[in-house]
Amino acid sequence: MNASTKGTALITGASSGIGALYADRLARRGYDLILVARNRERLDQLARRLSDATGRTIQTFPADLNDPAGLAAVEALLRTDNSITTLVNNAGFGAATPLLQSDVAKMDAMISLNVGALTRLTYAAAPAFAGRGHGTIVNIASIVAIAPELLNGVYAGTKAFVLAFTQSLHHELADKGVRVQAVLPGATATEFWDVAGVPIAHLPSHIVMSADDMVDAALAGLEQGELVTIPALPEAADWQAFEAARQKMSPNLSHTQPAARYRVAG
Ligand code: NAP
Repeated sequence: MNASTKGTALITGASSGIGALYADRLARRGYDLILVARNRERLDQLARRLSDATGRTIQTFPADLNDPAGLAAVEALLRTDNSITTLVNNAGFGAATPLLQSDVAKMDAMISLNVGALTRLTYAAAPAFAGRGHGTIVNIASIVAIAPELLNGVYAGTKAFVLAFTQSLHHELADKGVRVQAVLPGATATEFWDVAGVPIAHLPSHIVMSADDMVDAALAGLEQGELVTIPALPEAADWQAFEAARQKMSPNLSHTQPAARYRVAG
């Protein structure tokens, strides 16, 4: 595809870490960008660097996605800006605290950002993309979506939502020309770990991927047409077997009678 026809990618959480690297890679692939996060100064610095390096048009859109007005402004942009062809739902935060040590207000804010904002932005973008017959939605989940025993349980729940929601979006939107991808990063070297309360230096180094490698792998997965990309997983067949087991159960999950093991004797 000619670089000038790629359109604009809107990336949330673009001020640091994984989102900033999506910005770098997508600008170099010929996308114009809209960068969303709270930290205006960081967004402006990144935008200047990337527009100098690539010549693309890079707009910044400072917004707090946990603030109804900020979220509504980004939704409005997704509904009305016909140049937007790609949405990267990346803004999010996590925690490592167990339930009994967690502040429920913080958990609520996590659900609001990781689930609520991601859902509303998808609902803003998907009808526009389906109406035009093309568009791409990349949702950044996590390996905790399928490994809820790691880290904080609410964080895992938010990312399980992102995975299930993305699978459902694929089911509904693939025939309307809308591509979706869920990315399940393992531990990635970003500020995420400072926010989550675990210094990255405390993790075994053999489980930590650089954010550059993670984003390059995720984009390779997107370009290979994957619905679910797990950058660290050596064998794609392991994920396919996991999915096949889930789908094999599907016809047996709803019946008129309880299973024999639950029937009351006598
Ligand atoms: P990060 O460097 O902390 O980036 C988080 C981004 O989200 C920042 O740009 C932050 O910018 C933005 N953000 C946070 N709260 C926001 C809000 N209320 N409104 C708008 N933007 C907000 O961490 P990261 O690792 O790149 O995280 C990106 C995504 O990857 C998250 O969804 C995370 O759950 C996921 N993930 C990370 C890892 C990992 O090990 N790092 C593993 C699996 C999944 P501002 O502070 O400027 O708003």
